[in-house]
Amino acid sequence: MGQHFLTDLSVAQKIAETTYKGQSDQVPSTKEKVRVLEIGPGMGVLTQYLLKNPQIQLTAIEIDRESVAYLHEWYPELDLVEGDFLKTDLNQLIPEGEFNIIGNYPYNISSQIFFKVLEYKDRIPVCSGMIQKEVAERIASKPGKKAYGILSVLLQAYYDIEYLFTVDEHVFNPPPKVKSAVIRMTRNKRRRLDCDEELFKTVVKTAFNQRRKQMRNSLRSLIDVQSDNVQCTKERLEWFLTRRPEQLSVEEFVELTKLIQNERNQDIL
Ligand code: SAH
Repeated sequence: MGQHFLTDLSVAQKIAETTYKGQSDQVPSTKEKVRVLEIGPGMGVLTQYLLKNPQIQLTAIEIDRESVAYLHEWYPELDLVEGDFLKTDLNQLIPEGEFNIIGNYPYNISSQIFFKVLEYKDRIPVCSGMIQKEVAERIASKPGKKAYGILSVLLQAYYDIEYLFTVDEHVFNPPPKVKSAVIRMTRNKRRRLDCDEELFKTVVKTAFNQRRKQMRNSLRSLIDVQSDNVQCTKERLEWFLTRRPEQLSVEEFVELTKLIQNERNQDIL
């Protein structure tokens, strides 16, 4: 279940702070509480600091029965749900308003957790916590870098990413095989992308299927590019097809999606 328990309390405290330090308008002065959902509290090392904070209204979801029993005993005041975060309908769990997500996440499902966050992006202003360092680097990566990929583009389209700090493997029990890092993602001002958002996801995922190749190869399945010789009429689309996905910014992926949308609409006419 990806259980590596954090033993260094100062790190736990620093992680707990990431959920509200990013929202200057929600730091101490405001009276309204910040709703926070913790994923995988385990033995509550992070949870204890979240519970202590009067600004936070906490709910936690934990899949492991033993951990749940432990938490019930030691933190009876905690609003705790036993269940699988990936299978939980968050609209049912927290019916209204915004809520932040936090955790020392189960590393084996961290990407899936973030894809789920994207599904609820308009209700989740901040998502922060600890993940595998390599995944944190991917999420935060800028175009042109080796780590830049699907997760970077899809998350950066809607969230501003901060790579906060790296965490040594020895502060865990048992120590994981990988290094860890703490990140914070803060929802940006972009409510909707200026293109078909479903197609955008498909374009990004399809393009990165062959990340080292010109996109002419991978995007063939989405648009009518029969052979390498057939030049696309639209110069701009043609230019995109000669590029590799790792070179494109979020804005360029949006533009590319719009071009593909146009191309498809013309086919229908
Ligand atoms: N936050 C704790 C535990 C981290 S280990 C600490 O810092 O020490 C990851 C935790 O996530 C474990 O407790 C594990 O049981 C829990 N977990 C794993 N998969 C989960 C899922 N799908 N939904 C909810 N919790 C999960």
